[in-house]
Amino acid sequence: MSRIAYVNGLFLPFDQAAVHIEDRGYQFADGVYEVMAISQGRILDEQGHLDRLDRSLAELSIAWPMSRVALVLVIDRLVRRNRVANGIVYLQVTRGVSRRDHAFPAGLRPSLVMTVRAGRPASASLAEVGARVITIPDIRWRRCDIKSVALLPNVLGKQAARLAGAYEAWMVDENGLVTEGTSTNAWIVTAAGRLVTHQAGHAILNGVTRMSILTLAHSLGMEVDERPFGVAEAKAAPEAFLTSTTSYVLPVVSIDGDPVGDGKPGPLTLRLRHAYIQRMARR
Ligand code: PMP
Repeated sequence: MSRIAYVNGLFLPFDQAAVHIEDRGYQFADGVYEVMAISQGRILDEQGHLDRLDRSLAELSIAWPMSRVALVLVIDRLVRRNRVANGIVYLQVTRGVSRRDHAFPAGLRPSLVMTVRAGRPASASLAEVGARVITIPDIRWRRCDIKSVALLPNVLGKQAARLAGAYEAWMVDENGLVTEGTSTNAWIVTAAGRLVTHQAGHAILNGVTRMSILTLAHSLGMEVDERPFGVAEAKAAPEAFLTSTTSYVLPVVSIDGDPVGDGKPGPLTLRLRHAYIQRMARR
């Protein structure tokens, strides 16, 4: 079956879906996005993603392209028209089309593009062996809390990971502290069994999965510290993992080639992963 994309009010065959060359998303990366998982035909944490979209748009003074209620309906329709039961929705809102000028005119109509893709987001086989990560300098801007489509440092970081045979690159700030992965949040487990992840703020994207895992961890009676951790602390930690919409909870078994713990997925990590997947199935 051919894929259908949504572009500014139209449902179009994939190869006919296009945006204007003077769209500010194309010219300035002047836009934001969300990626949501579809599991058994349902969108996971849809409200959490729309809350974050609302926040990203507000921070950049971009208007909603339509009401939130209408957007939920369009997402649902696009998922159905593509007949995708398991996969992802990609949604992008840009400031809109205008004659190229850094400053933007008032009253632009935002552009909305949406695509749906089939596929199992989380790789179960990778979760069994665990993922390798490398560390790289965090060269991004100071508003990483905005889910902007300006992803060049993340793109280069992920490519560096790929070339190193790793799944992800953890970005390290000028104080030697891990902020997050290029498309995932970073976590460790301390020897005392406490979970540690960078606090929300301008230095990281507050993952919807990160927030779900915080709630889940508390409900499982696990203690969490929201604070930064250094590369040395991570390498010495008994367990590490990463979280995202498409990775769920994924064990990290090596950092820059050094094994984490015994080099196998850790028990607390696996407990969280299973609890997260169960919670998804219940929804
Ligand atoms: N950090 C960054 C930089 C990301 O791009 C993502 C994925 N969009 C995440 C963290 C994880 O966020 P989420 O759990 O909402 O997918």
